[in-house]
Amino acid sequence: MSGLPVRPEIAAAEPYGAPHPDVPVRLNVNENPYPPPPEVVDGIVQRVRQAAEQANRYPDRDFTALRSALADYLAREAEVPDITPDMIWAANGSNEVMLQLMQVFGGPGRTAIGFEPAYSMYPEYARNTFTTWRPTQRGPDFAFDLARALRQIEHEAPTVVLLDSPNNPTGLITPLETVEALAEQTAGRAVLLVDEAYGEFRQPGTPSALKLLARYPHLAVSRTMSKAFAFAGVRLGYLAAAPELIGYLRTVRLPYHLSAITQATALAALDYAGLMLSQIAELRERRKRLASALGAMGFTVTDSEANFVLFGRFEDRHATWRKLLAQGVIIRQVGPAGWLRVSVGTEAETLAFLRALARTREELE
Ligand SMILES: *Cc1c(COP(=O)(O)O)cnc(C)c1O
Repeated sequence: MSGLPVRPEIAAAEPYGAPHPDVPVRLNVNENPYPPPPEVVDGIVQRVRQAAEQANRYPDRDFTALRSALADYLAREAEVPDITPDMIWAANGSNEVMLQLMQVFGGPGRTAIGFEPAYSMYPEYARNTFTTWRPTQRGPDFAFDLARALRQIEHEAPTVVLLDSPNNPTGLITPLETVEALAEQTAGRAVLLVDEAYGEFRQPGTPSALKLLARYPHLAVSRTMSKAFAFAGVRLGYLAAAPELIGYLRTVRLPYHLSAITQATALAALDYAGLMLSQIAELRERRKRLASALGAMGFTVTDSEANFVLFGRFEDRHATWRKLLAQGVIIRQVGPAGWLRVSVGTEAETLAFLRALARTREELE
């Protein structure tokens, strides 16, 4: 109304963001429910103190120490020993990493594709980088439909292909052979980004797409410290790819985008990676029990390998969501109509959710 010359696609949009009212049981944004242990907090304080002593200076623009630590971590976590620091890039959350990737490989006159349901930020990266977004659908039961995906690649000739595995909101993993088929099909034409935000939650023995990096210079695999790493408040995401691809990301980043405080904090957490990740097995077990409990209540539940499940189906999911909220439990209304997503919390939070859900059903019947 003020006559601001805003781009129409921005004027028409709402800012992204899950509602986050202050309620006792927060199972809506897939955080790790456990705060960092005291040793880690002390380690952070020490490293941040050192960084603060030099805060008059700009930070290391190429975050050399952090890239090394991330390369070591990935090499161990994914059992891919040949990941080197020049294959790592980081930014303030993997959202920022993916946006930078789109700034390099998307753009006006170019197309990106994804496989929906998928992470709800992908269309926003496309909009923000003036890239055309042409997603296709997953198959029945949200399984990845390779034939359809390959047709979409042929039809749309994208320069960016975004695949989240484990997928958000279903938690489903796309098998490595499928990722390999996509990599073959896109070689020389597109960049294939595999978003492994929930990678650490995958079943032991399930290979990461990082295993394919050495073979495909157009493959990038992103990770984040926001989920399994229990570090959502710090904003640190990263990506691994061939050094040439990383070089282009360096070209588009803003100067000193990763503050000295962020670098110090992330390094401290990586000093204690084992401790930060120590609840993964427990969260995975609880996810299984949560899925069985929901199944026993008659819901259909996705076979998730992440720290959340998608369950349904609801005639009116909003009615259930609202009644849960009224009982102090927030989950997420996201993805296809008729489904709701709930994160795995502590034991007490998970039980509180199941109790509130049972009560909600009685009330709605
Ligand atoms: C949570 C999430 C991210 C992580 O975003 P950050 O910016 O690293 O916090 C990335 N991809 C998916 C699919 C997610 O669900």
